[in-house]
Amino acid sequence: MRRQWIHVFLAALTILGGLAPLTPAESAGLLTGKTICLDPGHGGADPGAYYAPLDLSEADINLDVAYRLAALLQAAGARVVMTRTGDQGLTEAERAAFCNRAQANILVSVHTNSFTDPAPNGVLTFYGKRSAAEDRRLAQALHDAMAPVLQANAPSPATFIDYGVRRYGAGVLRRSAMPAALLEPAFMSNPAEAALLATPITTAPGSGVFTAGCQADSYRRGQIAQSAYRGILAYFTGISKEARAIPTEPAT
Ligand SMILES: [Zn+2]
Repeated sequence: MRRQWIHVFLAALTILGGLAPLTPAESAGLLTGKTICLDPGHGGADPGAYYAPLDLSEADINLDVAYRLAALLQAAGARVVMTRTGDQGLTEAERAAFCNRAQANILVSVHTNSFTDPAPNGVLTFYGKRSAAEDRRLAQALHDAMAPVLQANAPSPATFIDYGVRRYGAGVLRRSAMPAALLEPAFMSNPAEAALLATPITTAPGSGVFTAGCQADSYRRGQIAQSAYRGILAYFTGISKEARAIPTEPAT
């Protein structure tokens, strides 16, 4: 039953089309010399959000998206380190400390959003340090690359909301020594979105080399990884995207 649903939605998504990936020749070497720390949110005793109808745990989605993103970044020459490569439980402080020890140039924490009301869906990107223009610039570059792709391919594009870039003082963001951003690409509490996100994890980590389970950009998780990858490229290389005004910080 579960797999049938997944296949129906994946077939529908393939028809809708997606983001054309950069060819290896186009991206080769663009990130050489950069160390990127990816932080798949949650894990261990903390599964994050949970969508019961599809037995979908946020921790699993986050890890899979991070692997897909890692593969793209490595293909562009980056050194990629990950705070967790399996179902380990880590504190926010441990995540930041790991990235700091690796002397990463940037930190990208991968999450999936959820809400008590099943209706909302949309994309939101956070930075965490109170006064750090570079963190905002990273978050904005990621958001600008991700929002249009995720909206265009959303189950219901008209109701897919661009929540913009906001400040959220998560420990992993605040304690990092480098620019850091946290992704909330879509709402797994939205049933149609959850169905798209239900692509199973297909590949375990290799020996030090991260491999994506499926690079096809017609998969929702692949779209998230591809668009985040383009945002990171834009951040480091300045390729694409005009400057945008930063939204006012929410009162927290
Ligand atoms: Zn989360």
